[in-house]
Amino acid sequence: MSASRTPRKRARLDGPADDEPPQSPQPDANPEEPMANDGGAAEYTRDTEFWLEDGTVILVAGDVEFRVYSGLLAKHSPRLKELFSDTQCTRTLLVDGRSEISCPVVCLTDSPDDLRHLLRAYMPQDASNIYEYEYPSFDAVSASIRLGHKYQIMPLYVRSLAFLRENFPEDFDTYVELDQWVPTGWAIEDAIGVVNLARLIGETTLLPTALLACTTLGEQIVRGYQRQNGMQEHLTIDDQALCIKAKIQIRKARVAALFRVLCPAPAKTCKNTSGCRTTLRKAVYNLHSTIDNWLGDTDDPFASYKMYIKGGKLDVCEVCLPMVEATSVAERRKLWNRLPLLLGIQVPGWGVPPPATQSAPVQS
Ligand SMILES: [Zn+2]
Repeated sequence: MSASRTPRKRARLDGPADDEPPQSPQPDANPEEPMANDGGAAEYTRDTEFWLEDGTVILVAGDVEFRVYSGLLAKHSPRLKELFSDTQCTRTLLVDGRSEISCPVVCLTDSPDDLRHLLRAYMPQDASNIYEYEYPSFDAVSASIRLGHKYQIMPLYVRSLAFLRENFPEDFDTYVELDQWVPTGWAIEDAIGVVNLARLIGETTLLPTALLACTTLGEQIVRGYQRQNGMQEHLTIDDQALCIKAKIQIRKARVAALFRVLCPAPAKTCKNTSGCRTTLRKAVYNLHSTIDNWLGDTDDPFASYKMYIKGGKLDVCEVCLPMVEATSVAERRKLWNRLPLLLGIQVPGWGVPPPATQSAPVQS
């Protein structure tokens, strides 16, 4: 940039075109419609990350405009391809400061942050991005789902949905392997956003575990939370009511299951019935010392009974211990199968038992 030029913070046109009048100004253009042109009436900020000097289309989201490659986006998105070809709005810009081109200008109703995440997926700024996607942020996944769904960018949408399914599974065995309510790097409150995404795209299998995570949130169930990008995210009134009601139902079912697991009835083939019965009774009695855990707001109802036993191990015989373990798995699986019912939602296909399970009966 020459010293004689004063950079405009919100310049409307590039290079020599700065000296040219805009084409057919329409300062009152409806923001919901494709922009007629930049007109000069509204003020937009060029995105610092995606204003590419050889870009061939201008996307406007909120008060931010992005100059990017139309062909690359059109290749992945039939919907964006349509928008690029349908718009009547253009702006004359320089390519790399030399020849002029006419860029279509397309006004989108998405947030600039969501659009930026989408562009990062297809126009990474550096090679390190491939590692960042190992632990995508909630905002990135949310944007990929919302915009992937809206603009029919199927690979991005499918990959993002698969990520959510891995972390909010419908399979009990997968769930118990997860040691976090939400993916690495996410806040527990992001479960609210997952519920909203699941509602948006009709992916009901995400709802049980996402709603379950929401039941641990206390007053934030009602208040919602502010996302990393500054946006406020809330559960709907219906989902707020659902969480409050379900929390009690799940807790009752979970406590009942815990007491059934520690039922002081030794195995039929136990050769130390008196000792094992006493051990089990003590375990039940001592539950009072861990009540804040198994009745706590953030307790996982699918945690093993061992979490609430002194030393994490029952001192019963080699016959009774496998029996208690099997009962624990069966009770937790039964609770899992009932989870949609306890939440008051319908999830087709949920709780279909694996074909070769050897655990105790699943049906209540
Ligand atoms: Zn025994």
